[in-house]
Amino acid sequence: MPKTLRLILGDQLNHNHSWFNKTDDDVLYLMMEMKQETGYVKHHIQKVIAFFLAMRKFAEEKQTEGHRFVYWKLDEKENEQSLEKNIPKLIEQNDIDQFEYQLPDEYRLDQQLLQLSEDLPIPTKAYGTEHFLTERDFVAKFFKGKKTYLMESFYRQMRKDYDVLMESDKKPVGEKWNFDASNRNKYKGEVSIPAELTFKKDVSEIVNLLEKMEVETIGNIDSENFEWATSRREGLQVLDYFKKELLPHFGDYQDAMTESEAYLFHSRLSFLMNSKLLSPLEVVKACEEYWEANQDKIALSQIEGFIRQIIGWREYMRGIYWAKMPEFAEMNFFNHTRKLPEFYWTGKTKMNCLSDSITKSLDNSYAHHIQRLMITGNFALLAGINPDEVDAWYLGIYIDAIEWVEITNTRGMSQFADGGIVGTKPYVSSANYIHKMSSYCSNCSYDKKKRHGENACPFNSLYWHFYERNREKLEKNPRIGMAYRTLDKMDKDELSKMLNQAESYLSELDSL
Ligand code: FAD
Ligand code: SF4
Repeated sequence: MPKTLRLILGDQLNHNHSWFNKTDDDVLYLMMEMKQETGYVKHHIQKVIAFFLAMRKFAEEKQTEGHRFVYWKLDEKENEQSLEKNIPKLIEQNDIDQFEYQLPDEYRLDQQLLQLSEDLPIPTKAYGTEHFLTERDFVAKFFKGKKTYLMESFYRQMRKDYDVLMESDKKPVGEKWNFDASNRNKYKGEVSIPAELTFKKDVSEIVNLLEKMEVETIGNIDSENFEWATSRREGLQVLDYFKKELLPHFGDYQDAMTESEAYLFHSRLSFLMNSKLLSPLEVVKACEEYWEANQDKIALSQIEGFIRQIIGWREYMRGIYWAKMPEFAEMNFFNHTRKLPEFYWTGKTKMNCLSDSITKSLDNSYAHHIQRLMITGNFALLAGINPDEVDAWYLGIYIDAIEWVEITNTRGMSQFADGGIVGTKPYVSSANYIHKMSSYCSNCSYDKKKRHGENACPFNSLYWHFYERNREKLEKNPRIGMAYRTLDKMDKDELSKMLNQAESYLSELDSL
C-alpha cells in the first residue's frame, strides 16, 4: 500500500517537477476533476475542456512512466466534488500516512489547503511548483518600503539574475533595456500573418460530461475540432512555431488590432505556461537562442518585447498577487458600482471594437492583450463598472485565466481599482487611440470623430466624463496633468454637451 498521497491541481502540470525524478510505489498521485473548480465562476466551455484534457493527458503520461495515479473524472461515483471531502476519503481508503501538495497559485486554494492540512489527522507537507523564476514573496521583498512597484526595475533584475539578453553582468544587449516605443505599429496587411498552429481534437465526450453534470459554461465550441494545445508535446510544437513564424514580427504588431485576425503575431502560449506544461524560462531561453542564431532576420526589439512580457509582466504580476492578497480582491479606488452591460455576454453591440473583441472571446476563449486592455477593459473603466463584475467576466472567459494573473491584470492594470499599485495611471482612451491601432472605427456605426450628437462614439464622451468625475482622485497624478489641462481649456458649451452625452450613454449602456 502507498504511504504518501500527493495532490496535483489542474494548473500544476509540470512534467519536470522533482517529484517525478524517480518512480516510487510508496507514493500515490491524485488528480480530480471537481465541481468546486468548474463552479467558482462561470467558465468558458473551452477553458474547462482545455484543463480536463490537459489533466487527463498528464496523468496518462505519468502513469506510463511508472508513477501510481488515482484520477477521478467529474462523474466518478466516489467524487464528492471538493478537496475537503475527497482527500480525507482517499486517505482512509488507501491507508495513507502523509499528505503532500504543491503550493497553489491561487489564494482561494492556498487557504483551503492550509485549512485541510490543519484538519487532517496525518502530517502534511507543501512543496514549490518549481515553475516561476522567483519565490512568492520576492516582489514584496524587492519593493519593501516603496509606494509604487515599478515593473521596469523588477524586469531588469530578472534579466540580470537569469542572464537573459545581457551583454555582461550589468549591460543589456543593444545598450537599451526596453524597446517598447518601437512596438506600436498598426497592422495594415504589409506582412502576411501565418495561420495559427491548431490541433483538431474531438472533445464531444467531455462536452457531454459537462452537460450531464450540469456544469454551467459560457462561450462557443466546435466539439469535433477543439483547437488548443493541451499536452506538453503539443505545447513544444506551439513554442517552436512561435519562434520561427511569429517572433520575427511579434514586437512590431504587439499592440495592433484587426477584425480579420484573432491572434496576429501573438504566441498563444499563456494557457500552456499557466497550466505549467511549459516553463516560462524554457520559453524565454528557446526564443532567445533562436533569436541569437537568426539576428539577421529578427530585430532585437521583437525578442525584447516578448521576453519582457514573460519574465517582466507575468512574473511581476504573480509577485504583486502574493504581496497584496487578499485585500487586492476588494479594492475599488473609484467606487465603481455599475453592472456589466449585457453585451459582454453576447457581443451584441453597435460598437464595432467591443463587438469584435467580445465575439472573438466567446468564440475562441481568447483575446490578445490590447483587446483585453484597451477595448473591453477601457470601456468597463470609462463606464464605471463594478470591478467585481469585471473580474468575474475576465476570470471566466479566457482560457488562460487563473486568478493570480487575471485579477492583477484586470483589477490592477486595467481598472486601476488598486489606485496605482500595478500601473502609474489608468489605461483609458478615446476613439483616437483605438483608430490609431486598429481597423475597427472604419467599419463602425458610431463616428469616431464625434464627441456628442447623433452616432457620436461613446468612447469619446465617456473618456472626458471619466476624467471630470474623477478629478479629485487623478488631477495630482503627474502622468495625467495633460488631460486636465486639455479639459480646462475646452469650450464650456462643448464640454457641457459632451458630459451630457456621456450621462445619456451611461443611462442606457445596454443599448449602445
Ligand atoms: P503573447 O502576447 O504572445 O505574450 C506572451 C506571454 O507573455 C503570454 O503568454 C503571457 O504569459 C505573458 N504576458 C503578456 N502580457 C502579460 C501580462 N500583462 N501579465 C501577465 N503575463 C503577460 N494573462 C493570463 O495569462 N491570464 C489572464 O487571466 C489574463 N487576464 C488579463 C486581463 C486583462 C484585463 C489584461 C489587460 C491582460 C490579461 N492577461 C492575462 C495578460 C495578457 O493579455 C495575456 O497573457 C495574453 O493575451 C495571452 O496571450 P498570448 O499567450 O498569445 O500572449
Ligand atoms: Fe469603437 Fe468608437 Fe471606433 Fe466604433 S468609433 S470602433 S465604438 S472606438
